Amino acid sequence: MHQATNAAGTADAAPRAASPRVIVIGCGMSGILMGHRLRQAGIESFTILEKAATLGGTWRENTYPGIACDVPSHNYTYTDEPNPGWSMVNSGGAEIQGYLERSAIKHGVLEHVLFNTEVARATWQGDAWSLETRDGRTLVADIVISATGVLHHPAFPDIPGLDDFSGAKFHTARWDHSVNLEGKRVGIIGTGSTAAQIIPALMDQVGRFSIFQRTAQWIFPLQNRPYRESTKRLLQRFPILTRWLYRWHAFWLEELFSKAVVGGGWRHRLLSWKCRRNLAQVKDPVLRRKLTPDYEPGCKRLIFSGTFYEAMQKPNADLVTEAIERIEPRGIVTRDGRLHELDVLILSTGFKADRFMRPMEMVGEGGLKLSDAWREGPSAYRSLAVPKMPNFFMLIGPHSPIGNLSLITIAERQADYIMKCIATIQCRRVAMAPKPAAVARLLADMKQAAARTVWSSGCQSWYLDKNGVPGIYPWAAGRFLREMKL
Ligand code: NAP
Repeated sequence: MHQATNAAGTADAAPRAASPRVIVIGCGMSGILMGHRLRQAGIESFTILEKAATLGGTWRENTYPGIACDVPSHNYTYTDEPNPGWSMVNSGGAEIQGYLERSAIKHGVLEHVLFNTEVARATWQGDAWSLETRDGRTLVADIVISATGVLHHPAFPDIPGLDDFSGAKFHTARWDHSVNLEGKRVGIIGTGSTAAQIIPALMDQVGRFSIFQRTAQWIFPLQNRPYRESTKRLLQRFPILTRWLYRWHAFWLEELFSKAVVGGGWRHRLLSWKCRRNLAQVKDPVLRRKLTPDYEPGCKRLIFSGTFYEAMQKPNADLVTEAIERIEPRGIVTRDGRLHELDVLILSTGFKADRFMRPMEMVGEGGLKLSDAWREGPSAYRSLAVPKMPNFFMLIGPHSPIGNLSLITIAERQADYIMKCIATIQCRRVAMAPKPAAVARLLADMKQAAARTVWSSGCQSWYLDKNGVPGIYPWAAGRFLREMKL
């Protein structure tokens, strides 16, 4: 972080109280973590503002059938909160939600949370932030930390007639559990990571399952399995084993997946071979052709599943690759004129990944609005901070290495970095923000490096910004981990 007052182009700050007033926005995985880190540093003068009535972020909002984390559970774990009791190698969403709730209680974070409190606007007042909530309250903070996550604004497809559909219809992140799917004609638009979990989970329950695929996806075989009770007891008894499992899974993520997508070489060839071999299990050549992507594995976010292809070969699966023309009350009409009649329509169409903490407006130094600063797309210094937004930090902000690592690992390293900035702010009584030139340099380097990644090899994905340039960290995970230690 290019820090400190005038040299960094930031505001002079008034002397502060020994313990800064900190506001964290969002109480999902990273907000809970930030609260824990603040408490570990002896800072109790913080509040976490959460727009919903409960914590959990993505694991609270996504409750679709089959939901699990495709990052192994022992790696999708806070490093100081190992969980020998994970039931599966890749545990389900409800279990992860429970883990987050227990962590928030155990670490005394929960009592710092103000629920049902959504921030509408944050304005830098020269020496502190003034935050206005949607229900008209004003709060003041020396430091604001956004922990709002990346994938939380559902993207709805712009398809004519979408609102005319007469059956039940919902986005995967707003699952309507009151809808009975038993024996129904169900349609799902999208075949990303979310759909790849839903389709196998529902295939045996629904009548006919029409899967509307715009682009085929590469699928890396993932054999999820439960942990035996004896294994859990062993992990409980010897905590070093859970730490070893954390490192083991981290090693594969860093050494194989991360390096394969940013560096290519033998790792990418291995990954490609695994995906192609996985696809070969599809017996019907016509179906296999339809499921074969026309781009490099890893270009879109890789899907991890050991059950997707099996589900797609079931007799009630209907893979529709003809483009969707319109939606009408009875179902979906494809460009070949065929009407696919449906009782239920599931929109597995992803998220607006460029929103971050917006629609909240931030007004920084000199009246600069974040919406103006990010007109060309979100940008940040090391994913953490934005010029002219003093004492403002982000967890899992723009350009985070979300394609390469467990999100918890990323958030932990970023939180550690932010804690170092907070210590500087506290002891040197400064306001910190990055220099615009430093951000511009970094963005130029990133753009160059991004061109060499597999994400730039010719596909459409939410990793790409509106100019088609990957907006995520384009170097290997190891580099990110080293940078966060500086
Ligand atoms: P996604 O990967 O963005 O996939 C959206 C799907 O909807 C794509 O197949 C897309 O087709 C399709 N689509 C969008 N608009 C469409 C339209 N107008 N007509 C037809 N098809 C349309 O979304 P997601 O599956 O929700 O996953 C988002 C991210 O969430 C993942 O990449 C991953 O990072 C995260 N996730 C993680 C886990 C986990 O286990 N860790 C699980 C689920 C999700 P195109 O491909 O043609 O654009």
